[in-house]
Amino acid sequence: MKLKIAHLYPDLLEVYSDRGNVTVLKRRAEWRGFDVEVKAISIGDTADLSEYDILFSGGGEDREQSIVADDLLRRRSAFEKAIAEGTVILTICGSYQLLGRYFETIGGKRIEGLGLVDFFTVGGTKRLVGNTIGNLQIEGLAGNTIVGYENHSGRTYLGEGVKPLAVMTNGFGNNGEDRFEGVAQGTVFGTYMHGPLLSKNPHFADFLLRLALYRHTEDPVLIPLDDTWEMRAHQQIIEKYSQTVRV
Ligand code: GLN
Repeated sequence: MKLKIAHLYPDLLEVYSDRGNVTVLKRRAEWRGFDVEVKAISIGDTADLSEYDILFSGGGEDREQSIVADDLLRRRSAFEKAIAEGTVILTICGSYQLLGRYFETIGGKRIEGLGLVDFFTVGGTKRLVGNTIGNLQIEGLAGNTIVGYENHSGRTYLGEGVKPLAVMTNGFGNNGEDRFEGVAQGTVFGTYMHGPLLSKNPHFADFLLRLALYRHTEDPVLIPLDDTWEMRAHQQIIEKYSQTVRV
């Protein structure tokens, strides 16, 4: 089998080396002997999203978000089909915001989102910036920490019953008020954490890979890797910032 990853809008949504997340997923799968194909999909490209095991999209500023929004909306039913077929979706910051109902920018412009998950985002004057630490809330990884770096004006508010990816101990997260960070709904994930996120959170990278492999096998097995360096980077954020940056 071949693990297929689509990188959506790599030419437009890419801040803080978000593309590194794709490299991490690819390499961690290859180190386990999987064959991996990565395809870039951007505005106007024809693609059946449900062909892919993982869809990834990075962050972007308000301008880039408005540029991709129409193309994204055109693909709404393709996203629904992919989700129904178990495709894993990971979105960072700017693309995370577009998974929700809308993003109203600080300039008052309303960018319609895909509405795949019930939440909305509104821009604020003060940007929420800094290193972040949270406790993962997802089944199988609950109790594990997740670390990253955030820089956004948008404040995201999850709908009733919608679960966050993590609960923040340090940093602002979704809005700096409710301590929620990101969203996790089935195989769909959004987060404000740049980093690249997965290089510093190998446990979350493997969680996503295993989830994606369920499309091919009933009981996916990922042989353990030596994550000494990855966990050193993870621990460094915790040691350096858990005392200084309070929610
Ligand atoms: N433009 C969005 C905001 O400022 C997203 C920023 C980002 O992707 N880093 O909220």
